[in-house]
Amino acid sequence: MSRFWSDVVKGLTPYVPGEQPKLANLVKLNTNENPYGPSPRALEAIRAATGESLKLYPDPNAEQLKAAIGKYHGIGAQNVFVGNGSDEVLAHIFLGLLKQSRPILFPDISYSFYPVYCGLYQVDFETIPLANDFSIRLGDYAKPNGGIIFPNPNAPTGCLVPLVEIERLLQSNPDSVVVIDEAYVDFGGESAISLTARYPNLLVVQTLSKSRSLAGLRVGFAVGHVDLIEALERVKNSFNSYPLDRLAIAGAVAAIEDREYFDKTCKAVIATREKLVGDLKALGFEVLPSAANFIFARHPQHDAQESALALRRRSIIVRHFKLPRIEQFLRITVGTDEQCDALVAALKEILGA
Ligand code: PMP
Repeated sequence: MSRFWSDVVKGLTPYVPGEQPKLANLVKLNTNENPYGPSPRALEAIRAATGESLKLYPDPNAEQLKAAIGKYHGIGAQNVFVGNGSDEVLAHIFLGLLKQSRPILFPDISYSFYPVYCGLYQVDFETIPLANDFSIRLGDYAKPNGGIIFPNPNAPTGCLVPLVEIERLLQSNPDSVVVIDEAYVDFGGESAISLTARYPNLLVVQTLSKSRSLAGLRVGFAVGHVDLIEALERVKNSFNSYPLDRLAIAGAVAAIEDREYFDKTCKAVIATREKLVGDLKALGFEVLPSAANFIFARHPQHDAQESALALRRRSIIVRHFKLPRIEQFLRITVGTDEQCDALVAALKEILGA
């Protein structure tokens, strides 16, 4: 710490992202990346965008990308905001829409970046405990609030809140913004984007990092009423007038347009997830119902942290959170069939099953 640091910086506990080890030949199942890689059409578009045109600034409004997202979701381009990964989109949301006089609400077990943004932007918050079965119970959010945010499916549990319950929440909260963080929705959830036309207080956030396998390109977006989008544009333009570079815009547009590759790879991840769930249950794991590209599982007889370390010694990395209520769980990203088979074989050995 230095005497030059501001009080805000002194009070920050920054988010620590999952490890990105440099070692080759790892079975990397720790940060919910997609094992199939980006659409070949997206890679081709990025290659084509690499050249002389890089001397020019990108489109500050990323209009081509907003139009592609709008077309895909059947909404207007004016209802779309884009940013450098959904993390940046979320940052703008905390400052532009969730910094209110009343505390905002989010689940006590959810994306650990939320309290970090609250610290950065001095947003008051209250956490609402998950139910005993680790689901988000929206009935518990019936109290005055400055906004509500949660991931759906939730992270790191993978549990899904049905759309009818979200609609009920919107109806009972007409005066506060409800943000649904749909980073994992394409692996079995139902997007709340269909509700945005009817609820001017709903903002839905998605990313190209997971279902479109472009975590390295850093593209995320939000969909909602133009008034909410305008708030985010104001924040963005006060921070960096170019949300995305030329390569990111080109790759993201092509990835959104390649529906066939998207459908094929999402289906493959879902099929592998279902097989992995069965295999882990056969080893005695309790597995929470997952609508995401990861599963959250605990073994009644084996310590999760020790299992994670034993897996690591076999070059397989999964995520373990040393947090109350979930320290006996492992979060395992759904990889290829081969990667998941290697994980199950290693666990068999570790558990002596
Ligand atoms: N929301 C949730 C719930 C996530 O798990 C993640 C990934 N860590 C993000 C948002 C951010 O994803 P990205 O910035 O890659 O779009």
